[in-house]
Amino acid sequence: MPQSQPQPKPMQTVKGIPVSPGIVIARAFVLGEAETHVPHREIEEREIETELVRLAGALRDASADLVLLRDRTEQQLGREAAKIFGFHLGLVQDPSLLGPMRERIRRDRVNAEVAVADCFKKVTDQFKAIGNEVFRQKANDVLDLERRVLGKLMGENESRLSALSEPVIIIAHELTPSQTAGMDRKKILGIATDLGGRTSHTSIVARAIEIPCVVGCQRVMQRAEDGDLVIVDGDTGVVVVRPDARTLEEYRSQQDRFSHYRAILRETARLEAVTKDGTRIKLLGNIEFPHEVENVLANGGDGVGLYRTEFLYLTNDHEPSEDEQYRAYRHTLELLAGRPCTIRTLDLGADKYTQQRAHEPERNPFLGLRSIRYCLAHREMFKTQLRAILRASAHGPMKVMFPLVSTVMELRQAKMILNDVCEELEEEGIAFDRGIQTGIMVEVPSAALLARAFAQECSFFSIGTNDLIQYTLAVDRGNERVANLYTGASPAVLYLVKQVVRAGRRAEIDVSLCGEIAGEAIYTMLLIGLGLRTLSLVPSQIPLIKRGIRSVDIHQCEELARRVGSFDSERQVLTTLRDELRKVDPDSFGGWIAE
Ligand code: PEP
Ligand code: MG
Repeated sequence: MPQSQPQPKPMQTVKGIPVSPGIVIARAFVLGEAETHVPHREIEEREIETELVRLAGALRDASADLVLLRDRTEQQLGREAAKIFGFHLGLVQDPSLLGPMRERIRRDRVNAEVAVADCFKKVTDQFKAIGNEVFRQKANDVLDLERRVLGKLMGENESRLSALSEPVIIIAHELTPSQTAGMDRKKILGIATDLGGRTSHTSIVARAIEIPCVVGCQRVMQRAEDGDLVIVDGDTGVVVVRPDARTLEEYRSQQDRFSHYRAILRETARLEAVTKDGTRIKLLGNIEFPHEVENVLANGGDGVGLYRTEFLYLTNDHEPSEDEQYRAYRHTLELLAGRPCTIRTLDLGADKYTQQRAHEPERNPFLGLRSIRYCLAHREMFKTQLRAILRASAHGPMKVMFPLVSTVMELRQAKMILNDVCEELEEEGIAFDRGIQTGIMVEVPSAALLARAFAQECSFFSIGTNDLIQYTLAVDRGNERVANLYTGASPAVLYLVKQVVRAGRRAEIDVSLCGEIAGEAIYTMLLIGLGLRTLSLVPSQIPLIKRGIRSVDIHQCEELARRVGSFDSERQVLTTLRDELRKVDPDSFGGWIAE
């Protein structure tokens, strides 16, 4: 009888949420467990201390994870099931294991990874040698723990990633914003994840670094294996695992059409963002890192409207010093060469954690101690950032913006601290811009509703629809399960936007909008119609939005805004916006339409 051949696995198509445009085809790299390959390095005497600190950090992080796991398991499965993590915790804090690890680093001058691997191996061998099933099981636990600690030391998957010889598509359950920010564009062509929403920060970062990305695929991790050929279509949200020949060919030709369309758009980058009847719209870029300024300028942006400074914290293993921050901000201004920059103070918390905060989980982080609240509660850290910002302000036009302000008191407190810092600098004779403008992100309904009061106490507003949508509609912006409820086309959200623009106009202060909808073509006419004249968006979308602006006139936009203002359902709003865009710019309708 002929031997039966293993059947090739069939093609699988998964639908997720498209968050960063473009079509890519490459092999899958499934981000999974911590790597087991341990790098061996002999260290110099002066490195001993560093390795000991690394070891302590990894053990501390592993312990923190275990505490979380133990508590969660106890809640969900009961005390008995949680005991396993109690055993892990006991071991990871056991002096008879930790002592020899430290000793190995000091005496044998090896890196922390080797010390960990060797010491855990000894324990595993001892358990195995007892030869009884219970202890064999314990040996597995030790192995598990070893992986966890090594993962902390090595940065999970980093070694495997750095060994890649060809670019890949990352398949993951979930990525953190800092993991995404650290991705090398040359090695990583695309991303598909199980979790996430359109405005979760991982998605925003993927867009910023222009990696095609689909999130919220729910079970793509289960369907793809390392090395499988995968297609990620960041325009429609489709991910195809092991495509058949016909599908592959179809996507290849779409890829060509997409690059052609992008090339046409690049031409628009050089043109002015002006409506047909001559109204100039300011298009600024949202950035996370100074080097992105180049991208803003290459795409024809007028400056930076939102600099998310927290990313300097997220991508560092230590809290950046005043000087490190000052250098980054100054560098940004230098690259902008006289163009304006609105710098946002730290917006940490919710889905953006520092190493330290990861250990202080909150039950409801999006409603917790985040953003300006966190800064007001950690004044020294806040003051350090404000000093760095003010020092940099001597090198170019800069405004300061406070995130997630929800009460007038918060704004007053933040301004008071800023004043204190100004006085300190003055006394020290350090140069800064004495007339620096301060403004707020309007991204919480309370701020939008009280916009008239806020307008008396600050110089500008920037409407952050990403958060404003989530807080107005009570829909988590990063949760794929409720992604269908998350939309900027909500009449409630649009009503708030309109009120904020009005309040700003009345008080004669600048109002801009920097949420992701500023970069989505279907909203452009509506936003102009609502009275906005400054938009800040992901740099790569600037040409597309410019093109939209150049195809309309103000009256058309105002008429559309009036019409949409009378609707009470998001579906009606969306359909109308789509129809309008199709009429004024059918080609861009075929480009990236997010909704
Ligand atoms: C927003 O909330 O709209 C915004 C621009 O800020 P972030 O996306 O960083 O929360
Ligand atoms: Mg926000």
